[in-house]
Amino acid sequence: MKDMGFTKDVTVGRYLDPFEGFKEKESSFEIRKDAITGVTCRILPYRFRFAEKPDVKSYLEKSPEAICPFCPALFEQMTPKFTPDIIPEGRFQRGKAFLFPNAFPYDRNNAVAIFSDDHFLGLDELTPKVMLDGFMICQDYFSRMYRLDPSLRFCSINWNYMPPAGGGLVHPHLQTIVGENPTRFVKTLYESALRYKEQEGSNLWRDLVTFEKTEGERFIGTTVDIEWMTSFAPKGMAGEVTFIMNEKSSIFSLSKDDFLELTAGLSRIFHYFHANDFISFNMALYATFAEDDSLWIQGRIIPRFQLPPLGTSDLNYFEKFHEEIICPTIPEDLCKEIQKLF
Ligand SMILES: [Zn+2]
Repeated sequence: MKDMGFTKDVTVGRYLDPFEGFKEKESSFEIRKDAITGVTCRILPYRFRFAEKPDVKSYLEKSPEAICPFCPALFEQMTPKFTPDIIPEGRFQRGKAFLFPNAFPYDRNNAVAIFSDDHFLGLDELTPKVMLDGFMICQDYFSRMYRLDPSLRFCSINWNYMPPAGGGLVHPHLQTIVGENPTRFVKTLYESALRYKEQEGSNLWRDLVTFEKTEGERFIGTTVDIEWMTSFAPKGMAGEVTFIMNEKSSIFSLSKDDFLELTAGLSRIFHYFHANDFISFNMALYATFAEDDSLWIQGRIIPRFQLPPLGTSDLNYFEKFHEEIICPTIPEDLCKEIQKLF
């Protein structure tokens, strides 16, 4: 089998345990490195679980429908419009979905998409049908932007769902970025595939899928054309799900059925989060505009949370300033649990 560049080192920490008469206690953990993503992660054996589901009520009280720019009453007057050269109507529309410029842009081409009149949708209410137009309208926008500027190469569809994940509004919304250059993480993925092709003479994403299927430990399942797995070295404290769309690179190669398959898979993951008392997640989907097999369409999803009782953040100095993630969730265990839903 090909070497995917996954390495694991086991380290043991020792201390005298005050809860057991200061008896010496050992605790071992793994330092995992993923050469494809460049992520280093420390897998700890003590799993974190919520005692009860965090309450979403306080978010809804502070961010009610009455002041929401994405709810129907204020939408027309409060959301930005595109200049007429992009779309004369000002905003893209597809069914109940709308796409418009981000009022707080962090890129030249940075848009927001909403897909529902409902101010709040719980994780169990994010059904494939509800989300479908939200993803497809991003493709409408990408298509328009590509026609206007063929130098654009990379796009992404991103999601901060609820405040613990960085969501500034409760109303579910996706965010897109389009650019000539990839973001730093996408560049890492892209360059890994180029390097791999040069060294191994084959496609990294095809070989990675084969590797994970053969290993079996992190492979959740295949839907029709999408491979779902847990990440060897997650970027989140509660683990990470990765998906790869087989042999697909251009975002324009996706049909309605592909988007339905994608949203159906995502909705299963969200159900898993919901059943495990999470209320928040981050998601990103990366793709290219032109066909380019150095980046098969792929994405990542991590649950986000605040630790009770203080509401402690799941981000800390280790991730911010050492660029390593502390993850008290074993990816292979997470895989077995999510597999039941696939
Ligand atoms: Zn709203």
